[in-house]
Amino acid sequence: MSDCIFCRIVNGEIPSETVYEDEEIIAFNDMQPQAPVHVLVIPRKHIASLDDITETDEELLGRLMSKVHIIAEMLGLANGYRLVANTGEDGLQTVRHLHFHLLGGRKMSWPPG
Ligand code: 5GP
Ligand code: ZN
Repeated sequence: MSDCIFCRIVNGEIPSETVYEDEEIIAFNDMQPQAPVHVLVIPRKHIASLDDITETDEELLGRLMSKVHIIAEMLGLANGYRLVANTGEDGLQTVRHLHFHLLGGRKMSWPPG
């Protein structure tokens, strides 16, 4: 998807501060951090949102989820963190490439609003 910002980050066309990568997943710093640690964890594969996941993606997303605590540990989030997937219009999703916000380094508030 050449018009997708996150696909362009995956392809190296747009620079990013990568904190973790493997053959299926990358994690990079959000350009507008909302917490001392604010990383976006994304599959390299273009999947538009949680609404667009198919059976084919189940193993990929299982592996992505199983990496989150490893990335959090690398980033020093031993005291906890939050994982958020804004989805669709009401969820205020602005980039249509599935991503999980990994936020930490401060006490979060609830509800998120
Ligand atoms: P959403 O609003 O879709 O849940 O989250 C999109 C996130 O992507 C936002 O937090 C925004 O700051 C971040 N973002 C958008 N464009 C870029 C970019 O080009 N580089 C980086 N590092 N983050 C981006
Ligand atoms: Zn994409």
